[in-house]
Amino acid sequence: MIKSDPMPETVTSNSLAEIVAELKRRPAFVMVSHVKPDGDTLGAGLALGLALKPLGKRVHYFQQDPVPRNLRFLPEAEHVARAIPADLPAETLWIFCDMSDSSRAGDHLPAIDRANTLDIDHHLGNSHFGAYNLVLSEECSTGTVVLRVLKAMGVTVTPAIATNLLTTIMTDTGGFMHSNTTASVLEVSAELMTAGADRDQITNEIFANKRLAAVKLVGAATASARLEERGRFCWSLVDDAMLAEYGADSEDTEEIIQHLRSVEGVEVAALFKSISGEIRVSLRGNGRVNVQLAAARLGGGGHYRASGLTYLGSVAEAVEAVRGAIVAEGLRA
Ligand code: 5GP
Ligand code: MN
Repeated sequence: MIKSDPMPETVTSNSLAEIVAELKRRPAFVMVSHVKPDGDTLGAGLALGLALKPLGKRVHYFQQDPVPRNLRFLPEAEHVARAIPADLPAETLWIFCDMSDSSRAGDHLPAIDRANTLDIDHHLGNSHFGAYNLVLSEECSTGTVVLRVLKAMGVTVTPAIATNLLTTIMTDTGGFMHSNTTASVLEVSAELMTAGADRDQITNEIFANKRLAAVKLVGAATASARLEERGRFCWSLVDDAMLAEYGADSEDTEEIIQHLRSVEGVEVAALFKSISGEIRVSLRGNGRVNVQLAAARLGGGGHYRASGLTYLGSVAEAVEAVRGAIVAEGLRA
């Protein structure tokens, strides 16, 4: 929780030079990842931490949730913890990676003075909640924002840093398939491979290496998918009973939404996850509907083509609320 959260003074980002000066000035850092961590939030923080440590800085990594199984290979991930050391210096800078609002960090953070916060991100609807903000929405991942910082600092990109950063790119571009895969993303990825990023390992850990339970869950969730709104809205549901049936858990739900989105004619895909008393919704658009705005109507957020939200109510209500939001954002009737 950021104390006394006043309206941000900055609505635009700080310059890279200002960010670099702040990083050089501070003796200690806590990298903060968002709940339900993905390769971007984690890889960006780990890469920045790995770059700061050799400069004699103290670095910790905070994350409310455990590191997902498929991200445990990331160099430095073994240091990620929920516990915050008691002896942090007062000038510690808390660096929030890949979140449009600090609430995405969860509710296990201590009270932090806003003066000690840096918001580093690439989300369109970022609230610039930090005292310092580096929000570059044209970047494909928060990791590539971090890479800009590292270059401005003159840091050498080691293989461990490169693997973390290439993971952020491969995660947020869906393995170079999403529309945010620009020529410069491929150029930066080539640079990272030259610096020693282990692309094979990233591919295996993130896009393969699935548990059989996860593959079966994809089968069950796709078998029960519905195509509505004249074929433009494809959605499905995963609930506790389905997880129990296949011995799967919420980490095994990741891939399902890609299949719903890949159906011909679909403009928006939604996966409703009714798990442990909470309804989480993942939305994916195919370019016509801005699903970030649709999610924002229901208290969530994200990107133009990928967003999410938590819904309070029944699954049936969640489906109708999401349908209403995507129709309001331009799903063709
Ligand atoms: P996912 O479907 O993978 O959970 O989320 C897709 C995207 O939407 C991610 O970029 C994530 O940052 C964003 N997102 C997911 N859930 C929420 C949420 O509850 N609030 C906000 N603001 N963004 C979310
Ligand atoms: Mn991201």
